[in-house]
Amino acid sequence: MKVLFATSELAPWVKTGGLGDVAGALPAALRALGMDVRVLVPAYPALLEAFPDAEEIAQPHWLGGLLPTPKLKQALAPDGTPLLLLDYPHYFDRPGNPYLGPEGRSWLDNHLRFGLLSRVAAWLGSEASTLDWQPDIVHCHDWQTGLAAAYLHYLPGRRAKSLFTLHNLAFQGLFDHASLFELGLPDAAWQIDGVEFYGYLSFLKAGLQHADAITTVSPSYAREIQTDAEGMGMAGLLRHRAENLSGILNGIDTHTWNPATDHHLHQTYGARHMDGKAANKASLQEELGLERRADLPLFAVVSRLTEQKGLDLLLAVAPQLLKLPAQLVVLGSGEHSMEHSWTALAQKHKSRCAVTIGFDEALAHRIEAGADIFAMPSRFEPCGLNQMYSLRYGTPPVVRATGGLADTVVDAADEKHGNGFVFGPATTDALLLALQRAATAWRDPKRWRLLQKHGMARDSSWAHAARQYIELYGKL
Ligand code: ADP
Repeated sequence: MKVLFATSELAPWVKTGGLGDVAGALPAALRALGMDVRVLVPAYPALLEAFPDAEEIAQPHWLGGLLPTPKLKQALAPDGTPLLLLDYPHYFDRPGNPYLGPEGRSWLDNHLRFGLLSRVAAWLGSEASTLDWQPDIVHCHDWQTGLAAAYLHYLPGRRAKSLFTLHNLAFQGLFDHASLFELGLPDAAWQIDGVEFYGYLSFLKAGLQHADAITTVSPSYAREIQTDAEGMGMAGLLRHRAENLSGILNGIDTHTWNPATDHHLHQTYGARHMDGKAANKASLQEELGLERRADLPLFAVVSRLTEQKGLDLLLAVAPQLLKLPAQLVVLGSGEHSMEHSWTALAQKHKSRCAVTIGFDEALAHRIEAGADIFAMPSRFEPCGLNQMYSLRYGTPPVVRATGGLADTVVDAADEKHGNGFVFGPATTDALLLALQRAATAWRDPKRWRLLQKHGMARDSSWAHAARQYIELYGKL
């Protein structure tokens, strides 16, 4: 089966969150099981730099509306996955993040930039394509490629089936009515069972409406988003499409995230030789300027600093947490007000709390290895990757029972399977109680070893998810 992945992020070159990780790892896992998967991604500067010899293979033209004629270049990722780089420098050769300009505001032409990506994905899946490789399935991800499903729906002739994977319902890709024309969509698309969403054009809705099947990244999230409380305006549509909607839990890249081989660490370790973990803790405390205390539990956060992640709740209880006593390290970036509050907290409690604002992959690894307990109090969490990294690094996570967190973390109350701490309501009281429970359990070495053992033994590889995707491709 031939599958085209269409994505706006691709780890390790371009990543703002989980989507980049998934696009960077799942294709190789599918290829290992015999699928012919290729990845379409914009030729951002980081990709052009990584693949300077990428060879031009096509120029998709007559794409409609105001869409330009880009070039398609082909390259081979180190893991053997063929990449199709969508080269149109005027759109993609820009500094910073794929979506935001230097001042942190969305690029004004994002509808055209990701409309072009979607349109080219549909072109590749249609009779118009000039390539000798034609996908059976176009697999789109999040709003940035949601429109591909709509284009495929309106294109004439033989075309690929479409699968839309939802990584986060909060990002809906909303643009004004005029973009319908600019994107070359027919007037007929402007209706309630088309791409129109409360007076806007929504790329996300286009995907949910028109894809032949929809998946999201955990079974719990697939259920939650069909409720009015958590459906962010799309619940009705999602219920309508329930028969074609399923949840497939993400895996993690178990080569990159492996404490036994991780070259970012001060010392590697594994489930049967955990001494290295203590050494990583000491070196992390030193690196971040914390007091070197083996006798205090070290809590950690690596996250986007947003309300979704519940870090305002953690901020509110942090002074009590530090008084347990405990230490806390935070690595993240996001909302300016939250960055500011976290930095202020760290300044007040220098020996106990260290906050690093920024995106730092290597430090994220050292934190997973050096910390004792990971905190992820998300209000909603489609899947979440960090709790899985934490399990694998012997750093039991404290999580709220939502989405993928509920599907991966088992509370310590279950002695046979417990691998972390789970709390229910998104309140400071419930969070603090769970953090206290974790700190108490940490002081009981035998109990703690068991929790770590359960977490480290969990199979988080992509192979399981890949088999589920293949089954779905087959049905399509
Ligand atoms: P989301 O996609 O909602 O941001 P996930 O947990 O699914 O959350 O994935 C986040 C990914 O981004 C993880 O790989 C995590 O380690 C990484 N990450 C988030 N913030 C940072 C940061 N400040 N520095 C390094 N890595 C980060």
